[in-house]
Amino acid sequence: MTYVVTDNCIACKYTDCVEVCPVDCFYEGENMLVIHPDECIDCGVCEPECPADAIRPDTEPDVEEWVAFNRKYAEQWPVILSRKDPLPEATERDGETGKLEKYFSETAGEGS
Ligand code: SF4
Ligand code: SF4
Repeated sequence: MTYVVTDNCIACKYTDCVEVCPVDCFYEGENMLVIHPDECIDCGVCEPECPADAIRPDTEPDVEEWVAFNRKYAEQWPVILSRKDPLPEATERDGETGKLEKYFSETAGEGS
């Protein structure tokens, strides 16, 4: 089992989750983070820390596609080890639907 990041992280990237993960398994894209499903130890501490409610356990329905998504980009993007400021439009776009189609960028973030 693993936890994964889902679409409400896109364009928000608050990064509160990064601070609490005991195994540093968050990876940073230009405008979202992902969790490496093979590195996550399923502790669950990041889920309540996410202000965007974007982190989900893979036991929930409709999360399967996000496991593949998280794995794909975790293998391409740099690891992120410390918290940084959210993106400027984070509050405005929190909860917006269709973020994947509208805003997702495959580009890697800056890393840390
Ligand atoms: S706290 Fe939530 S919205 Fe912020 S980077 Fe982590 S998963 Fe994304
Ligand atoms: S569930 Fe635990 S190990 Fe997995 S990403 Fe969240 S904090 Fe890290």
